[in-house]
Amino acid sequence: MRRTVADMHTTGTHHHVLIIGGGNGGVSLAARLRRAGVRDIAVVEPRGHHEYKPLFSHVAGGTARASSTVRAQGDVMPKEVTWIEDAVTAVDPHTNSVSLVDGPGLTYDQLVVCPGIRNDWDRVPGLATAMESPSAASHYELGLANKASHLLRSITRGTVVFTQPAEPASCVGAGQKPMYQACDYWRATGVLDDIRVVMVVPTDAAFLPPFDAELDRKIAEYGIELRTRSELSSVDAAAREVVVSGPGRSETIRYDVLNVEPPQSAPDWIASSGLAGADDPGGFVEVDPRTLRHPRYPNVWSLGDAAATTNSKCGGALRKQTWVAARNVAAVLRGGEPTAHYDGYAVCPFTVSRSTVVWAEFDDHGRQKPTIPFLPRMYRENRLAWIFDRHVLPWVYWNLILTGRV
Ligand SMILES: Cc1cc2nc3c(=O)[nH]c(=O)nc-3n(C[C@H](O)[C@H](O)[C@H](O)COP(=O)(O)OP(=O)(O)OC[C@H]3O[C@@H](n4cnc5c(N)ncnc54)[C@H](O)[C@@H]3O)c2cc1C
Repeated sequence: MRRTVADMHTTGTHHHVLIIGGGNGGVSLAARLRRAGVRDIAVVEPRGHHEYKPLFSHVAGGTARASSTVRAQGDVMPKEVTWIEDAVTAVDPHTNSVSLVDGPGLTYDQLVVCPGIRNDWDRVPGLATAMESPSAASHYELGLANKASHLLRSITRGTVVFTQPAEPASCVGAGQKPMYQACDYWRATGVLDDIRVVMVVPTDAAFLPPFDAELDRKIAEYGIELRTRSELSSVDAAAREVVVSGPGRSETIRYDVLNVEPPQSAPDWIASSGLAGADDPGGFVEVDPRTLRHPRYPNVWSLGDAAATTNSKCGGALRKQTWVAARNVAAVLRGGEPTAHYDGYAVCPFTVSRSTVVWAEFDDHGRQKPTIPFLPRMYRENRLAWIFDRHVLPWVYWNLILTGRV
């Protein structure tokens, strides 16, 4: 028998607020909404564990254990929020309904789409195969981050290639972080001079103008060869060779170790569900970048890595976005209008050694945007930012961010 929306109310498949994805964005938003008094919130999340991804770079860089990056999903899901352990395959914004891989369809009053971004291993020929080979790894997946850590600590001579893709990408500059940490380790163990280090970036310089002088200083200090305006175009794992291409040129580099930040893309079902903008070939969820509300479907919202916002995608952006989304969704549920605005803030903490960080905070125009203006030296290499990034922030994430307190 066909189920109506009224049936779904009684069988628990209709929710006031349905959140797709129980990652950084989904769990912290659910917690903020609960704190704002919103009832009947459900989160669809297929994974049984929750990851704190910023520490993946530290795992590869040898300064964190993999076990410290994960917790059971049930332990981080806010109380009185329903966890639906399943994956969304499609959204129909015209009927306010969502299809799942296993369970019955769901309906909603307000939908928040935050399934993150996916690593697109097949975009570069040979890359997926290389990840299964002995000499290539990536800190963009936890299992591979452990492998990267082992490879970077074992090598004592040869060539190590690190790559960073063009945006969209999650914390795009993170591709560089394990490189600086590895260089610091090789210098301490006396082998840095025997290792050729190549960093491939798509941009004109290491990152963004306010931070480039500091990163360039470290790049020179470690003797890193920076290939700007370049991208990884293929990998031959058997020959241990990569082809790196830029405008009008291409270069083959033989490697002993390869660490890749993979190209990334939006989940396919976002565009096929009609949630992406017609002029967005990337297929991310179309939103007003300030209110985070969908311009065509006013009861649909998006935030985090899956949203077509104008900022650099990162957890630091989400800390502000969840506050905005929670206020706006709660206001609309009360019959009001969204008035909270996200300001485009983003952060990328560059671990430029195993004890210092360049704390890069910036807006969606690439201009510096420090959270604490009287600490201006945070964007210079410093120890305080390391302590904050490695020790304070993980605690803040598990205890304050995921519980909706900050
Ligand atoms: C290596 C690395 C280092 C980083 N370092 C930093 C840093 O130092 N600072 C910083 O601010 N940010 C950093 N980030 C970025 C930060 O981790 C992300 O921006 C953040 O996790 C995005 O949150 P999200 O909720 O959008 O996505 P995620 O946290 O990825 O969560 C998405 C969730 O959706 C679920 N999901 C996927 N598909 C479906 C589906 N079909 N149905 C239901 N659920 C689904 C997934 O299982 C996942 O749990 C880093 C990221 C990486 C990968």
